[in-house]
Amino acid sequence: MSVFPSSFDQFYGNRHAVESLRSSIAAGRLPHSLIVAGPRGAGKFTLALLLTMALECERQPREIAVDARSLASFCGTCRNCTRIAESAALDERVEEAVAAREEMRDADKKDTRVLVQTHPDVLILPPDPPQLLIKLGQVRTLIDRAHYVPTEAPAKVFIITSSSFMKEAANSLLKTLEEPPASAHIILLTENVSELLPTIRSRCAISRLGALPMKDMEALLAERRPEISPKERTLLARLSEGAAGRALQFDLAAYVTARTDALIFVRNAMQAGDHSPLFRMTETYRAGAEGQTKTTHLLRALASILEDILLLHSGAENIRNIDIAAELRQFAESFSFEWIEAAVHGLDGVQSGMRRNLLRNVSLDAYAAAMEGAGR
Ligand SMILES: [Zn+2]
Repeated sequence: MSVFPSSFDQFYGNRHAVESLRSSIAAGRLPHSLIVAGPRGAGKFTLALLLTMALECERQPREIAVDARSLASFCGTCRNCTRIAESAALDERVEEAVAAREEMRDADKKDTRVLVQTHPDVLILPPDPPQLLIKLGQVRTLIDRAHYVPTEAPAKVFIITSSSFMKEAANSLLKTLEEPPASAHIILLTENVSELLPTIRSRCAISRLGALPMKDMEALLAERRPEISPKERTLLARLSEGAAGRALQFDLAAYVTARTDALIFVRNAMQAGDHSPLFRMTETYRAGAEGQTKTTHLLRALASILEDILLLHSGAENIRNIDIAAELRQFAESFSFEWIEAAVHGLDGVQSGMRRNLLRNVSLDAYAAAMEGAGR
């Protein structure tokens, strides 16, 4: 998330759901236990932060909707708004918290959970690595702090960014969801409501965000990114999967460059023999920060291609990389389901290798070799 909205107007899509939440805040009736559900990239976390700013803003600005309802808003510049907005770069904040834990003595490490807090009354609970689950220690901290009165803002807000809970963590949250303290709000984000325990669901209000329909997305892009050609617009709408914020920021040129390299991988797996194009390509992936970004883009492009091949293989047509559909179809006809599955698994391995800081092009070469073997 590189560009954080400076107003609710810049949050695209789901107007009805967003206005309903804003009018609840203005009326002082925002449910204290709230689930925000929606597909990846729909803007769940962004919206949760915007709602938090609207709850906590020192100036409490109001707007009037077309149907005359009062809608809560935020100024974006007061001390509450600015500190909350620092959590927008969530991945960076989580990395900082993980790095701080790494520095600790082993005895302390074990009891330290990853939490993000850029405002004293706003606590964010991301999935705790390496298992990437919401853990008991995190939920205990939430329960503990929910019972304190807020010190610098009107409310205590807790945002749980994933619905993958450790079982004990989910169970221990139930009582607080059932009877949250009057000054506390708990916002739980999920891609799939049915992943949550029925006992959690039944204690929360649910707000659902949908993906933008393709034609709305293309219209939005035509208006906001007129430099993009109609053909690229169609591709971009597909690649961003109905997530408006993602589409508006998407660096299509960088993606296409990474995808060109990703295709070399897949072609290499298809043809035994001359591997020099592959080695020439992986040679350009070096260690260091720049190499890491480049590798991340490559792996993402590769994942997107493999998913499309899998879709085509199963007879579906709703692929993302529509501009290269012909070549993808060829791959889908040549590769077995087992091969595609192995390739997807291998990709996970490369990603965890990268986290362990293995030499980048070595793990890419090893992956390419494994993919080749899997093809036979
Ligand atoms: Zn403010």
